[in-house]
Amino acid sequence: MRIVDLSMTISEDMRVYPGDPRTIVYTWASRSLHGYYANLIVMGEHAGTHVDAPAHFVEDGETVDLVPVEKFMGKGVVVDVSWVDDEVSGEIIHRELGKLSTRIGVGWFVFFYTGYSSERMNRDYPVLSVDAAQMLASRGVNGVGIDAPSIDHEPYRVHRLLLGRGVVIYENLVNLDELLGCAGFMFVGFPLKISGGSASPVRAIAVVEEC
Ligand SMILES: [Zn+2]
Repeated sequence: MRIVDLSMTISEDMRVYPGDPRTIVYTWASRSLHGYYANLIVMGEHAGTHVDAPAHFVEDGETVDLVPVEKFMGKGVVVDVSWVDDEVSGEIIHRELGKLSTRIGVGWFVFFYTGYSSERMNRDYPVLSVDAAQMLASRGVNGVGIDAPSIDHEPYRVHRLLLGRGVVIYENLVNLDELLGCAGFMFVGFPLKISGGSASPVRAIAVVEEC
C-alpha cells in the first residue's frame, strides 16, 4: 500500500488565485517568550489545495460544513490532460478512461493532470468544457479535481454546473502525476468544518493498493 500526498504546504509564499487574499502565518507564541510555540493563520478558504462547496456559486447551495462527510472520499482516477491546450472535452475524458479500462460511476472522483503544478507553472492550463462537466455529473461522481488554480475560467459555467449538481471541486492539487495510469485508488480529501464556508483547505491523499 502506498500513500500519495496530494496537498500543497500552507505557507506565506503559497500561490493564490488573482484577487484572493494572501496567506499570513504569524508567530502567536514562541517557546523562548511564552514557553510554548503556536501560530495564527490568516488565509482565504480557496488558498492552496482546497475543495469548493456548492454555496461557492449556487444560491441556497450547501456550505462546506453541511456537505455530508462521505462526499469527500471515494474511488479515484487521474486523466492525463497535460497535452491539451485549452479545453478538456467529454470525448477526451471518455477516450483516456478507455485507455485505463476504467468505468467511472456513482461516488467516484475524476482528477485532471495538467502539469501546471510542476512543469507547466506560469503557463496557461486547460480547463473542463461544459459538455465534460455534464458527462461527469450525469455519471454521479462525488467530485472532480485539478492540479491548477481553477477547473474553469469566467463566467465559471463549469463551476456552476458541477456545484449545482452537488459535485464538489478540488483545486490546486499536487503530485497527480504519481497516480497516472492508476485507477480505482482510494481518495480522501476532508475539508475543515467551517460554519457557512464556501470552501476549505484540505489535506488530500490517495491510498494506492496496486499499480
Ligand atoms: Zn475554489
